[in-house]
Amino acid sequence: MTIQTTTLGYPRIGKNREVKKVLEAFWSGKSDTETLLQTVREVEFANWKTQLEAGIDRIGIGDTTLYDHVLDWSVRLGLIPDRFRHLSGLDQYFAMARGKDGIPALEMTKWFDTNYHYLVPEIAADVEPEANFADFLATVQRAKALLGEQAVAIILSPVTLLGLSRLEGDLATHLEKLLPLYSDLFAQLKALGITEVQLHEPILVTSSAAALREAIATTYSQLAEMGVPIHLVTYFDDLGVTYPWVMEMPVAGISLDFTRGRNLELLQQHGFPADKQLGVGIVDARNIWKVRPESVLSTLETLHSITPNIRLHPSSSLQFVPYDAMRETKLPEPLRNVLSFAEQKLEEVVILAQTLAVDEPSDRLAVVQTQWQTFEQFSPVNSAVQERLRHLTVNHFEGAMPYEQRKKLQPALPLFPTTTIGSFPQTSEVRQLRVKLKRGEITQAEYEAAIDAEIAKCIQIQEEAGLDVLVHGEFERTDMVEFFGQQLSGFAFTEQGWVQSYGSRCVRPPIIYSDVARPQPMTVREFQVAQALTEKPVKGMLTGPITILNWSFPRSDISRQEQAFQIALALREEVADLEAAGAQVIQVDEPALREGLPLKLERWNQYLSWAVDAFRLATAIAQPHTQVHTHMCYCEFGDIIKDIERLDADVISIENSRSNNRTLQEVTEAGYSHQIGNGVYDIHSPVVPTTEQLVQQLQAGILNLPLRQIWVNPDCGLKTRRWEEVIPSLKNMVEATHRLRQEISPKP
Ligand code: GLN
Ligand code: ZN
Repeated sequence: MTIQTTTLGYPRIGKNREVKKVLEAFWSGKSDTETLLQTVREVEFANWKTQLEAGIDRIGIGDTTLYDHVLDWSVRLGLIPDRFRHLSGLDQYFAMARGKDGIPALEMTKWFDTNYHYLVPEIAADVEPEANFADFLATVQRAKALLGEQAVAIILSPVTLLGLSRLEGDLATHLEKLLPLYSDLFAQLKALGITEVQLHEPILVTSSAAALREAIATTYSQLAEMGVPIHLVTYFDDLGVTYPWVMEMPVAGISLDFTRGRNLELLQQHGFPADKQLGVGIVDARNIWKVRPESVLSTLETLHSITPNIRLHPSSSLQFVPYDAMRETKLPEPLRNVLSFAEQKLEEVVILAQTLAVDEPSDRLAVVQTQWQTFEQFSPVNSAVQERLRHLTVNHFEGAMPYEQRKKLQPALPLFPTTTIGSFPQTSEVRQLRVKLKRGEITQAEYEAAIDAEIAKCIQIQEEAGLDVLVHGEFERTDMVEFFGQQLSGFAFTEQGWVQSYGSRCVRPPIIYSDVARPQPMTVREFQVAQALTEKPVKGMLTGPITILNWSFPRSDISRQEQAFQIALALREEVADLEAAGAQVIQVDEPALREGLPLKLERWNQYLSWAVDAFRLATAIAQPHTQVHTHMCYCEFGDIIKDIERLDADVISIENSRSNNRTLQEVTEAGYSHQIGNGVYDIHSPVVPTTEQLVQQLQAGILNLPLRQIWVNPDCGLKTRRWEEVIPSLKNMVEATHRLRQEISPKP
């Protein structure tokens, strides 16, 4: 007996980020179209070859992209918003991705609960879709030449595409327009000799899936007629209530994720149709750890005994992990040996399939077992941290005084206090300092002196602008998570561990590999340097526990909650130290709180309960006279407002400049009683807002909320902006605030 293996997608930025580099060269005019396309084809070819050589039987193809795979399908289907219609080709494609000459790009948002961002299709009611599959078909032809029968086309299903779109009109009407195009694509694929397609249908694991039954049934019955065997592919969670009817679809196979959610239970409960093949997503494509052989094999055996016709694959596309763990030669060997990036995951899938097929213990899995044992001996256990976690009581999560009382003890500030979110322009000179330090070209003392000079400049600029609560500017931070990870124990950093965040943007998430602790203060020095230069309060600036956790690769042996609490305990010490050093205001950023929400509504409460607790654990140590702020880069929290309240931060700053104060209305209606800074201008744009515009924006805010609750700030950090934009913007912001203060005297 043999057991087949397949893949659902592969990293597409290139092992050495070739695609990123060529894209950026292309955009700046340093590279031509042919070089761009050629580079992408080379990366694609190398990816196929790796999968072929690893011994994968059915290789998913067609997921390589110049920017984003969802955008690719929008364009192939002719779903082009009017504002881009005068453009064509790559010009149009990149305009949709990045905007052009003042034409705004498509909206970008997170792909399900991952940290990858896709471009949201915008579909007008009267759009007439028209197909152009030329690039996809050309890919298929190239793939056929290398892979022959083994090439499987990866296609984003029209239901998921529409489900993720900004739709004008109803889904069913649009689906009716799209299905003939898909049928046409299937016919062409068949003509090219494609013998299997994967229709990716991740929308089925979300809470909105129950309403999609009709759409799914229509889609699969129509496309099944085209005579190309279809594999319906889902990932990121279980099928939930849709399980029974998804099983009825006329497809050759159904792929389920067995690394997340309760698919195993569902399968045990409802069985699996004998006429279909079960695709088993068994190797976690969202995290970087090797499988634990025992537990995985027992799951596989259970599945196999219920339904013998199975094939194995990574739980989703491997685009969420880097290419190759073996390149991380600077990591300690015991750690490196239990890491699994894309190449190792291919190997794992193949070994597991072989082991299951011959039904006897495998030497290679025995090796993995030993590697885990070695790692466990190597990985430092911090019993002090574990001890502290075991002895947490309700008091650790409770501030010393309720908001209404402590508010009176906190810094007295003018009406509509002005502040910023933390970072100031991170110029190339500043970044160069870190490079020099790393290369040993400057000493630590020289580095710190240069950072301090930036801090001094930043304080002076804020004083001149007339801001009320200042910041030090975060010049010493590369990235708001990496900076803390580097100072905490329990985190490891890769050299080549890049994953695509969006387009050409790649990130290297830290790896949490053991208990987290704080050997020494992390931010106190820079805070003190800044506070010594001004009479105004300077905010202590921290990244919150949930954001640090969600933007890292977490451990797989303990729960996310436990990891969040460990990080929170470390931050708690930092809060106390900042306070002891004189901080009257401390901000703990949690931009990732919302994106960590589970895909299924019924699991929201459970997540929010520990996530909010983690924030409270980090901050409740603050004395009543210390004002605690938090910041979130979004404003859609109408649906979690109760949880936002439970954070119990004195002040929250949010993104609001692009959403017409809708959130403020929701916040007012919910009776939110703490202070709130609605971002008054969009820092993502280089445009300097005028005083007039800012006054208007402020007035809109005032209509909604009691005056004493309102703060004035930009909508996010100023890191990516230039000083020439930041200085006049902040001056105008303060000027607008002054005008308003004069116009209005608050009722007591
Ligand atoms: N304090 C951080 C900054 O100003 C916050 C960034 C964020 O919200 N993503 O850069
Ligand atoms: Zn932000």
